[in-house]
Amino acid sequence: MKKLVIIFTMLFLNTLLYAQNEIMPCATHILSKKEYEKNPDLFLKNKEKLDSITKLFNLNTRKGWSQKIIPVVFHIMHEGNPVGEDENISKEQIEDAVRLMNEDFNATNSDLSNVIDEFQSIIGNTNVTYKLARIDPNGNCTEGITRTYWEGTSSGNDDAKQIIFWDDTSYLNIWVVKSIDASIGAAAYTYVPSTGGPSFRHGIIANHEYVGSIGTGSNSSYVRHTLSHECGHFFNLEHTWAEWADVGLSTNCNQDDFVADTPNCIGSYSSCNLSSQSCGTLDNVQNIMDYASCTAMFTQGQVARMQASLNSSVGDRVDLWQEDNLWATGTHPNYQEEECLAAVDFYIPNGSSCVNTDVQIFNNTYNDGENPTYYWTFPGGTPPNSFEENPIVNYSSPGNYNVSLSVSTDAGTTYETINNFVTIYDNNPILSSINEGFESSNFPNSGNTLSDWEIDEQETENTWNRTELASSVGGGSIRIRSRFFSGEINHNLMSPFINLSQYENPVRLYFDYAYARRNSQSNDLLRILVSNDCGLSWTLRKDLTTDELITNGGSNVTSVFVPNSSQWEEEYVNLNPWGGDESVKIKFEFNGENGNYLYIDNIRLESANIGLDDDIIGKHKELLKTIDILGRENLKTKFYIEFYDDGTIIKNYKL
Ligand SMILES: [Zn+2]
Repeated sequence: MKKLVIIFTMLFLNTLLYAQNEIMPCATHILSKKEYEKNPDLFLKNKEKLDSITKLFNLNTRKGWSQKIIPVVFHIMHEGNPVGEDENISKEQIEDAVRLMNEDFNATNSDLSNVIDEFQSIIGNTNVTYKLARIDPNGNCTEGITRTYWEGTSSGNDDAKQIIFWDDTSYLNIWVVKSIDASIGAAAYTYVPSTGGPSFRHGIIANHEYVGSIGTGSNSSYVRHTLSHECGHFFNLEHTWAEWADVGLSTNCNQDDFVADTPNCIGSYSSCNLSSQSCGTLDNVQNIMDYASCTAMFTQGQVARMQASLNSSVGDRVDLWQEDNLWATGTHPNYQEEECLAAVDFYIPNGSSCVNTDVQIFNNTYNDGENPTYYWTFPGGTPPNSFEENPIVNYSSPGNYNVSLSVSTDAGTTYETINNFVTIYDNNPILSSINEGFESSNFPNSGNTLSDWEIDEQETENTWNRTELASSVGGGSIRIRSRFFSGEINHNLMSPFINLSQYENPVRLYFDYAYARRNSQSNDLLRILVSNDCGLSWTLRKDLTTDELITNGGSNVTSVFVPNSSQWEEEYVNLNPWGGDESVKIKFEFNGENGNYLYIDNIRLESANIGLDDDIIGKHKELLKTIDILGRENLKTKFYIEFYDDGTIIKNYKL
């Protein structure tokens, strides 16, 4: 029996491991096709133009081609890790990635010697050099790297381009994210040049684990050529097997990559069968535009196609290497590089902590040269100053505190002071419950700051506001509307600290809400989070998307939505992990765009011993999922595990 359990466990682990490795190298063909479908006429017109210049390039065999320099900027989209950790990858890792790209595009990569004899003679040299930009779009000194805190980085997609973007007629933008949106499910992607019109934002999005061979990257053939593969697409290469199709389909034998010297094939994935003949002739599995685990080369035909796109106005690739652009971006070979003054920046993940608690502050400075030195000052904190890169500070009184950082490099010293950088709370709660009906016209002020709710003020957008236009109980409620929001700012409504030490599980936060969509563009999200460390970290307990928020049956309401009494619904959040905690804060976080009003009312706490009876417990428990021992949804199995929405997990055995 013991053996059986071990086998089951191993099978289960294997399933998980397999699922993790299943990430596809690239999604360019899928996303480029989606863009094509949005505007096929434009795409085909672009493609036709590019094809005609490509034919010329093949005929002229690229006479007189000289080395082309491409200015590059890496935008590191991180979620609060220090520089050099996880997705906030180090400068060295980025430089290593650029080195690998240059080796691949100048046919000097060491694994090129592994290419089998049959393909040695058609190895292509693109003669392209990637260089980190030294002048940014504002004319300032740069190291060609930016670092931006972005909450979306663990499901990275084209939204990154709205957060930070350098003119793509001057720079190749590469956004490095924590991971790519699961619905895309790839290590990296870009768009071929024919995609989109003049306003389309071109560039490459890559998972940080597929950037460079050091740090969080890897020296596997798979990883070390990922960015070169994407650059191949960026310069108009398709996968070796087809334009739009997925890898490994037998129908790929009837499709083409528009390059004469790459043999017809179906493509291989995560394997290296050097004698594969998937369409009747020997496959070039070592081609960088394949998904094989031993890729190393471009062919001469692919090089001609890339160089043609570098000479075409389609997708503006031709602008990148022009002499005046190289001077403007500081990448011209004769440009005298200077050390930059540091771009000083720092942060703590959520901007608050408790009194007498250590808080680590993270340096996020870039353009910081080779050996930067740091000098911090913490007025009101202990210690009052520090020379550490990521110092720890402690405050003994509640309040808002300024923090300053000076960074010195060979180029000089720059400094930054952020006023009210950190909020320190006294987490001695005076409340042992919540029962908020938004009845007081003074809300959120209660007369005692320790029992006040908090609303984060936003400079540019309206936020949560008490209203008497509608309510589920009494005469007031709170509401917010995203109609004029950008979709990028979180609007927070936070409870005072509450003492849950008297609460026995289950503990639940109930609230009533009402919402209507404004139109099909409405895209709203309400998240409820809990913190027991004064907001230094938050745990997500529930998120409600636009569809889940709707309480009016689903019709669009273009005028101001005011719910009637039947348009309110009740929802709850399970707080079991915090039952017994002495100081808990709850946050209603809202962001969105194009929506109508969301109303919330009657926020209250209940637990097994306070206000919650067994009927309610049973009524609200919903079965979410049943899985078997291998993690599959399989209702025929004898041994199965049930997951409920209140967090309960029940293991069952059918006799
Ligand atoms: Zn690809």
